[in-house]
Amino acid sequence: MILGDENNNKQNKKTNGAIKPVELEAIELELDRTYEKNIRPKTFDDYIGQNSIKETLKITIEAAKKRNVQLDHILLYGPPGLGKTTLANIIANECNVSIKITSAPALERPRDIIGILMSLKEGEILFIDEIHRLNKIAEEILYPAMEDYTIDLTTGKSQTVKTMRVPVQKFTLIGATTKAGALSGPLRDRFGVIHRLEFYTNEELSRVIKRSAKILNIKINDEGADEIAKRARCTPRIANRLIKRASDWALVKGDGIITKQTASDALDALNIDKEGLDTTDRELLSLIIKNYNGGPVGVETLAVALGEDIRTVEDVVEPYLLQAGFLNRTQRGRCVTQKAYEHLGINKNKNGQMGLF
Ligand code: ADP
Repeated sequence: MILGDENNNKQNKKTNGAIKPVELEAIELELDRTYEKNIRPKTFDDYIGQNSIKETLKITIEAAKKRNVQLDHILLYGPPGLGKTTLANIIANECNVSIKITSAPALERPRDIIGILMSLKEGEILFIDEIHRLNKIAEEILYPAMEDYTIDLTTGKSQTVKTMRVPVQKFTLIGATTKAGALSGPLRDRFGVIHRLEFYTNEELSRVIKRSAKILNIKINDEGADEIAKRARCTPRIANRLIKRASDWALVKGDGIITKQTASDALDALNIDKEGLDTTDRELLSLIIKNYNGGPVGVETLAVALGEDIRTVEDVVEPYLLQAGFLNRTQRGRCVTQKAYEHLGINKNKNGQMGLF
């Protein structure tokens, strides 16, 4: 148990020994955070893959140090779980400065963004996740702050309204987004450095898995790590989650070591197939095939039919299906590829009718 006993005793006292589901959830969340914190790389050397981004960032950081100027604002974009937050923490570490982490939905009111800007210490990094979701007012407050470290404060009402320009400390904004295209032009233009994170290769993911397993004292052999890597959607966050499940399986059903067989059995039990697709992925593909004759079909229609939020479909489900060649995005909507038919074992006849392979 990673959580201190003191905490557990408190929970038990409140509920006469029985832990309420909501409290259980909180404990699990805390365990997840501790787990995340332990395995998150802290230096560029620990950060696997994304080599060209790392090299360019190292040079940008070094140059800023040599010139004795504040590091340029940085925009990182790419699907969730590829390491944007991790990279922001590493940059702060390399620059020897602290980092304040927030996300756009937490900056709804002008006073939220003003408060955080005014609280920044000299040289500090401000990390805003999901930056494409910033509202117009928050964006406009950010512009002068990003350009010349000032913010415009307004006081008074209607005719007596006055604007005061006040300084804030020099800082670097690191914005992260899953959708660079959704960022407004003026905001995007204010970032001096823009990087797109790539999906990881199986070999890189295998290294991520072995590194995390070592930190967490989980026994795994090379073939076990390769098997998890193949099914982790090219994404470190997913790979790290799957190690936990495979480790549980190895402990209960095997001899505690994650081998190719235990990894494969654990992932089969989770309905994650050989290509790393889960139930939602397969549902999405077969929905397009069965109801829309392979596509094109609009993403809104797909989200409703799947009972998923459109953002989840666009940001979480689709990117890997596109990358792995199961789906194409066209102007008229989404279409499945021949690979999707083959993977699901559905035969597409010339006249568009379906049969089993
Ligand atoms: P994002 O901000 O892009 O959603 P995170 O930075 O939160 O992704 O990364 C998710 C998890 O994956 C982190 O906990 C970290 O441990 C792991 N991770 C991400 N990138 C790497 C990497 N390059 N090397 C090793 N582990 C990584």
